[in-house]
Amino acid sequence: VRPGVMQAIDKIEGAKADVIEFNPGFTPDNKYVEIMEVVKSVTDVVDIMDANILVSGGRGVGSPENFKILEDLAAVIGGEVSCSRAVVDAGWKPRDIQVGQTGKTVRPNVYFAIGISGAIQHVAGMEEADIIVAINKDDTAPIFDVADYGIVGDLNKIVPMLTEQLKQTLKN
Ligand SMILES: Cc1cc2nc3c(=O)[nH]c(=O)nc-3n(C[C@H](O)[C@H](O)[C@H](O)COP(=O)(O)OP(=O)(O)OC[C@H]3O[C@@H](n4cnc5c(N)ncnc54)[C@H](O)[C@@H]3O)c2cc1C
Repeated sequence: VRPGVMQAIDKIEGAKADVIEFNPGFTPDNKYVEIMEVVKSVTDVVDIMDANILVSGGRGVGSPENFKILEDLAAVIGGEVSCSRAVVDAGWKPRDIQVGQTGKTVRPNVYFAIGISGAIQHVAGMEEADIIVAINKDDTAPIFDVADYGIVGDLNKIVPMLTEQLKQTLKN
């Protein structure tokens, strides 16, 4: 079970479990993988699996520079930026913020899917979010099938407008 797939329950003090030793009968000959070294990258970025709000961008964002408009939105609402695999494969963002089957499974309160088509492998990693807001110029994009709120249009116009509106609203 990958991390985040299931919701963690509160700790039950004094809970007991039976620990059963199970020997599947493997012998050294069954071992085909040898771990030579474990290399963990050190980063001060917040883990997207801990974020309450995720502002996630896809290929539709267009360029690594244009992720600035998503970062501005995230800053106003206290969220973190994540992305689809297409963005990682293009080298725009690091793999540790990729959402989906081969990325991370996330369960934020709010998930913005911006310029993300909604491929099954992406949806597998975010469909458990409480509220999903999709922004896409294609009204037939599958992301709208899982979205609670959908905005059809150009993200380059919508995202800055949304950021400005939220900034004003949160100021009052
Ligand atoms: C084995 C396997 C594992 C995979 N694992 C993952 C995974 O973990 N995570 C993942 O994300 N994918 C994964 N994929 C890839 C997945 O199938 C998709 O290719 C990928 O999710 C597509 O990313 P995207 O939505 O960003 O890009 P696209 O599918 O290209 O979608 C871009 C979207 O942006 C919209 N758009 C473009 N311009 C604008 C604009 N100006 N304004 C508004 N909207 C715009 C388009 O209408 C389109 O819907 C996996 C695939 C395989 C085969």
